[in-house]
Amino acid sequence: MPVTDARGLPDGEQIEADLVIVGGGIAGLILAHELAQSAVRVAILEGGGLEPDAELQKLYDGPAVMKGPGNPDRTINSYLGQSRVRALGGSGHVWGGKCGPLDAIDFASRPWRPLSGWPFGRKELTPYYDRACDHLKLPRFPQDGGLPQGTPFKPLGEATAALRASPRAYSPLSGRVDPAAFRRFCDAPARAQNIHIYLYANVTALRLNGAGEVDHLELRCLNGPQMTARGRRYVLAAGGIENARLLLASNKERPEGVANASDWVGRCFQGHVVITTGVDDPRGDAEAMLATSQDLALYDNQPRDRPHAVFVLDPQEQQRLGVGNCTMTLSLQPKPAPKAGALGASAIQLYGAIEGRTAQALDFFLMSEEAPDRDSRITLSAETDALGQPRAQLEWRYGQSDWDSLNGSATGFAMAFGGQGLGRICWPVDTKDVLTSMSPSRHHMGTTRMSATPSQGVVDADCRAHEVANLYVAGSSVFPTSGLVNPTLTLAALAIRLADHLKRDLGAA
Ligand SMILES: Cc1cc2nc3c(=O)[nH]c(=O)nc-3n(C[C@H](O)[C@H](O)[C@H](O)COP(=O)(O)OP(=O)(O)OC[C@H]3O[C@@H](n4cnc5c(N)ncnc54)[C@H](O)[C@@H]3O)c2cc1C
Repeated sequence: MPVTDARGLPDGEQIEADLVIVGGGIAGLILAHELAQSAVRVAILEGGGLEPDAELQKLYDGPAVMKGPGNPDRTINSYLGQSRVRALGGSGHVWGGKCGPLDAIDFASRPWRPLSGWPFGRKELTPYYDRACDHLKLPRFPQDGGLPQGTPFKPLGEATAALRASPRAYSPLSGRVDPAAFRRFCDAPARAQNIHIYLYANVTALRLNGAGEVDHLELRCLNGPQMTARGRRYVLAAGGIENARLLLASNKERPEGVANASDWVGRCFQGHVVITTGVDDPRGDAEAMLATSQDLALYDNQPRDRPHAVFVLDPQEQQRLGVGNCTMTLSLQPKPAPKAGALGASAIQLYGAIEGRTAQALDFFLMSEEAPDRDSRITLSAETDALGQPRAQLEWRYGQSDWDSLNGSATGFAMAFGGQGLGRICWPVDTKDVLTSMSPSRHHMGTTRMSATPSQGVVDADCRAHEVANLYVAGSSVFPTSGLVNPTLTLAALAIRLADHLKRDLGAA
């Protein structure tokens, strides 16, 4: 079926399909790839065109602020507009392609982490991770968290029980890496008989029928026609912020929005806390000093053509320290060792001369899991966009537990490195400066969280809205906790799992 520019359709056009997907980003497209050539008639309603467009991108703008205890508020009003892309392919046009599966602990209910626990464990996703790797042209990751087969290097973390090496690989399927291949990935579903992609088709509302199911969607083109779309099932795949915005803005039948009786839509917004010691850190004096240069090629995250490892703290160590999941990634760009006197007041100063060895100083970045917080949230602004839709606004809140977890994780890594004589870590980030020191994560998670029971979230383990029987959500907005890896491989795995479910549900399996 074709790719249709919806701006050329007559006003009042009614689009019909078995399955209507809102959004053609990586989540919506992988879902469509999986349903290609099946008996399910699919319509993808994509708000953007084939390439990013400044006018359409402005629909994403909205106010945003980061807040955390003991830190001055940090206004980041360009964030909502600049941390995603409104075009077919979505943020896939710009993403870095860094991928890995979540760790088993990311799915676990951890007594020391409130609101933690997915409705299923890591094992459930294993076959879907494999298929997601195939879509994203990645090596498959072993379930035990080891390195992909054929990796020739020995993990440095084997030297200590507290550290594990955790594999990552880069997908070449990014508009930034191979635009032609990425375009083929975006267009391919429309070459199947059963799939129709509509461009410039902005969904503005989900309308419910008397039974509380989605009856139809309202659509508008910027300065163009208004339409409706009807299906037997609907999947929201508009991204981690926009999924929540659409549900909240669809308030004609329910003032609180769709699927929001339990008041979780838009809440628990999470990214990842990332402290980088390289270019992003104005002080530039946090460093890892490694005592050895052996085996370090495995930790070099610069080459995109082979898997690399990052350090993760062992689950038992996380529990002992009471921290969330966390990783440390080295950047193998040796630089002259700084003088100890230049360090200032460090939270942890294990850095120092390593006796009898030739140490090398390296940049690193520490990524730490953010705790779900109901008050960290997307809401609707009083301001409207060019389609007349209320803009999204973000209040991104961190709690004391996030600061404690960050400092505790840095301590954990420093102790593990220092205790084994592997190296030293210098960590000078003062708690009162965390918000200004961190780079705002472009991983948008948690705003339509998955839960076993309706009182604890928006969608169930099948990604179906607890309250709306014919509505599903795809994308990282369903993650109840962020876990500690870039989210796209997991959202792709969940989209594939959803495709299998929908085939069965629609009698096409
Ligand atoms: C600079 C950058 C670097 C990144 N690097 C990485 C990385 O290395 N690894 C990683 O895992 N992740 C990374 N990410 C995150 C990654 O890009 C996202 O996780 C992923 O692209 C999300 O896919 P999605 O389909 O869920 O959402 P999106 O990509 O946001 O797609 C949503 C789609 O819905 C459309 N849409 C939105 N609203 C509407 C509407 N109302 N009606 C119709 N259509 C609509 C949009 O146009 C878009 O096509 C990065 C992100 C950025 C910005």
